[in-house]
Amino acid sequence: MIDAHNHLQDPRFAGRQAELIQTMKSAGITACVVNGTCEEDWPAVARLAEDFPDFVKPAFGLHPWKVEKRSETYLETLRHYLKQYPHASIGECGLDRWMKSPKLAEQHQIFREHLALGVEFQRSVTIHCLKAWGPLLDELKKAPALPKFLLHSFAGSWEVAQECLKLGAYFSFSGYFLHPRKEKVRQVFKKLPPERILIESDAPDMALPNPEFPLNKLNHPANLRQIAKELASLTGLKPELFSVNTAELGLVAETSGLQAPASWRRPPVSKPLHKPLHLPNKNGHGDRRSPPP
Ligand SMILES: [Zn+2]
Repeated sequence: MIDAHNHLQDPRFAGRQAELIQTMKSAGITACVVNGTCEEDWPAVARLAEDFPDFVKPAFGLHPWKVEKRSETYLETLRHYLKQYPHASIGECGLDRWMKSPKLAEQHQIFREHLALGVEFQRSVTIHCLKAWGPLLDELKKAPALPKFLLHSFAGSWEVAQECLKLGAYFSFSGYFLHPRKEKVRQVFKKLPPERILIESDAPDMALPNPEFPLNKLNHPANLRQIAKELASLTGLKPELFSVNTAELGLVAETSGLQAPASWRRPPVSKPLHKPLHLPNKNGHGDRRSPPP
């Protein structure tokens, strides 16, 4: 089981990472993608990747909430980290119109820079989006080229999801969506193609309603096991599939040997929940494996 998105470097976890990782391993979690948010926490992400090389996959990016804190040389520093860590992905970055007084022009500029880096370095990009789906879709559509990308903790509508699917998006489900009031989000995940769904803890945030591993007000990353189980029963998919997709997206090394047997896919339904995404194959059935390059 792989956690596609968390923040183990968060100061709220300071000094407890080894213990948290131990518990994650005992809960059956084999790897996690630790997302940086600003220049200040990139060294801590790098350190975790060095200290737990078989478990922590680093990601470096500038979160929209941290845009104002960046230095003039942030982009150079980011490039340096991507060169230094060839298995690192890019994130967390994105657009946020929910935050207090967002600096939208700067957010857009920085988001474009992250997408361009993803293309240049051929790394996946993890995207945060709150109340900014229209602008995000505009950016993705007008980008000269797109890297592989993950919409983490995706809470957009089914209409937005369909647009994003056409652009090759992957979507991750967090434990916060298990709250009763998040029914709309759960319905979207029921309709998404199985090969585009990932799971994440987003620890220490996005706490679950009744966590298996309570940690005061924080979300313990080992709660991923519960997230996998509940999303599997919700979608009728085998929980292993979500980890395979993490490898397919390139967030963890492909050498991890994860592969999706056909039997792990959702059984065919008489009435398709959505139109086949891609070109029909010889038999006239939609090839839902991957988008055209
Ligand atoms: Zn996050």
